[in-house]
Amino acid sequence: MSETLNISDAEWEVMRVVWASGESTSQEITRVLNGKRGWSQSTVKTLIGRLTSKGYLHARKEARHFVYTTHLVEPDSLKLEVEGLLSRICSRKVPNLLAYLIEKTPMIAADRAMLEEVLQNKQAVAQVPCDCYPGQCTCHLHARDTILSNLSHEENKYEN
Ligand SMILES: [Zn+2]
Repeated sequence: MSETLNISDAEWEVMRVVWASGESTSQEITRVLNGKRGWSQSTVKTLIGRLTSKGYLHARKEARHFVYTTHLVEPDSLKLEVEGLLSRICSRKVPNLLAYLIEKTPMIAADRAMLEEVLQNKQAVAQVPCDCYPGQCTCHLHARDTILSNLSHEENKYEN
């Protein structure tokens, strides 16, 4: 899946309530997010409205209120969010980000064993290519490669 989700941090708070409950009314969502964030019913309704128009929440009329459900699956959505985050940084910097995440993540022994196994089975490559657009990356791989290839052309010229 290369498609990324378009869910703001505030909208993500609403999605988490719907994922946790399976289906929720705006009152139920407001009760949770008023406790966590102090948001009013109208703030929550605005967020629900945006998520509904984006097609991430579906409204079903029941008695006197709407019940909201989603077809998005939380783990799939998290993966898409992470893909979106990773697309913002150079591939060469991702291992540093992973080390940071591992350092700051509290984990039980079984979690650590799982990660150790992932690392044991991880194939190392000789070099990670920089996939950044030229001018948006500080690793200067494109610039350096261009300079090196220009230099080798110059050298060839003098040798001939
Ligand atoms: Zn790069």
